[in-house]
Amino acid sequence: MNKIEQQVLPVAIIGGGPVGLAAAAQLLGKGEEFILFESGSSIGSSVLEWGHVRMFSPWQYNMDRAAKELLLKSEWSPPNDEELPTGGELVNDYLLPLSHLPEMKTKIYLNAKVVGVARKGFDKLKTAQRENAPFQVYVEIEGNAKVFEARAVIDSSGTWRRPNPILSNGIWTKAEKILEDRIYYGIPNVKDLESRYKNKAVMVIGSGHSAINALLELADLKGEFPDTQIYWTMRKTKVQDVYGGQENDGLPARGELGIRIQKLVDANQINILTPFYIHRVSETAGKISVVGDLKGEEVSIKEVDELIVSTGFRPDTSFLQELRLSTDPAVESVMALAPLIDPNVHSCGTVRPHGEAELRQPEKNFYIVGMKSYGRAPTFLLATGYEQVRSVVAYLTGDFEGAKEVQLELPETGVCNTNIATSCCDSSSSAEQTSSCCGVPVKLEISRSSCC
Ligand SMILES: Cc1cc2nc3c(=O)[nH]c(=O)nc-3n(C[C@H](O)[C@H](O)[C@H](O)COP(=O)(O)OP(=O)(O)OC[C@H]3O[C@@H](n4cnc5c(N)ncnc54)[C@H](O)[C@@H]3O)c2cc1C
Repeated sequence: MNKIEQQVLPVAIIGGGPVGLAAAAQLLGKGEEFILFESGSSIGSSVLEWGHVRMFSPWQYNMDRAAKELLLKSEWSPPNDEELPTGGELVNDYLLPLSHLPEMKTKIYLNAKVVGVARKGFDKLKTAQRENAPFQVYVEIEGNAKVFEARAVIDSSGTWRRPNPILSNGIWTKAEKILEDRIYYGIPNVKDLESRYKNKAVMVIGSGHSAINALLELADLKGEFPDTQIYWTMRKTKVQDVYGGQENDGLPARGELGIRIQKLVDANQINILTPFYIHRVSETAGKISVVGDLKGEEVSIKEVDELIVSTGFRPDTSFLQELRLSTDPAVESVMALAPLIDPNVHSCGTVRPHGEAELRQPEKNFYIVGMKSYGRAPTFLLATGYEQVRSVVAYLTGDFEGAKEVQLELPETGVCNTNIATSCCDSSSSAEQTSSCCGVPVKLEISRSSCC
């Protein structure tokens, strides 16, 4: 197939979450053809799994500009920019109306799981003329296998469906299978699951916002059912490390999570085990026992009834094996993003905006965007994803200058430490660099290369 024939093929989008739909809106805005595959039965099906959780960023950061423009041409009433939606509201008040627009609807396939992507006629090894071959996207749609051709592929399939396991070495074991009806991965809706958790010994594993959300809900339950025992285990040296920017956070609701959890810790409402490295879990006399290294000594916490595992997520690249990818060996993010987001080396929850150039893969016209572009790193913000797809779509539609621009204002986390001397967050960076990465929020309309 030559280049002219390829032009008429659509761009395929994998995943109908907020970032995938933003890519669709950007493509529509440019008059480009696309097809979007969502494995769930609804748009935003991963977000719906945490639909009860209130987001920490207000509406103004949660909607893509091109998507909003399309919606404003319809009967849609925009939400209040300052309000904080729940995940459910993000889907019902924004993603669903967007996906129901006539110009979107016909191009979206639900219950459509992408199981393979390749270049037509070319396995991974074959190079000559590779770039001219269209992509083939293998999709299971309601039990039937179908192949779609595309001129470019944007993978926005997120990481929600691949949670990290309990063990601190990252390995899945049979024990988790045996205990599966007493383990919840993610953030349970504790109110709806009251009978499951009330007056039980519940251990929350993890130190991110998901763990904090689960702990806050459990603490409310404990208020009503005082025999509920809450354990919190994490690998951090001290619990204070998870409090975040608190009052200094550019997103007050995110800062509030740190303030509220500190209050609970200070009131001794939670049994904290840290630093705790879990080596194994097992079932003993109907209870769960959790064995690990606590402050250098092996301990066994017995009598646990329920585990809530909020240890983060990892990307699924199994269906991309015939493509040439460049991902970081540790973070599993897009390679160029790793130095900006690697939690081992710096805690800039706010990552400088980036676009097509950083997201470009060795496989021409294939991009990983959104939550998945961050691999195992936890600090992704929707606003960052929207800027990613704006830039990628500009590039794919020939607007190379537009692709290089940065049009984004990101709120700061209020915490920003680094161990990398050359990082954007280092105190030796210039004032301009510091302000655009780690200081107060600034409007970023600079060339990407000018920051760190
Ligand atoms: C509890 C929680 C709260 C958060 N709060 C905020 C916040 O306040 N502000 C903020 O900016 N960010 C927040 N985030 C982070 C982030 O913005 C969200 O995770 C967001 O949903 C990421 O969007 P996405 O489109 O990249 O991925 P997802 O929303 O995960 O969407 C990916 C979609 O791809 C589908 N899919 C997966 N595999 C396949 C496949 N093989 N084929 C087809 N479809 C597939 C999934 O079903 C899913 O619908 C939060 C995250 C969580 C978990």
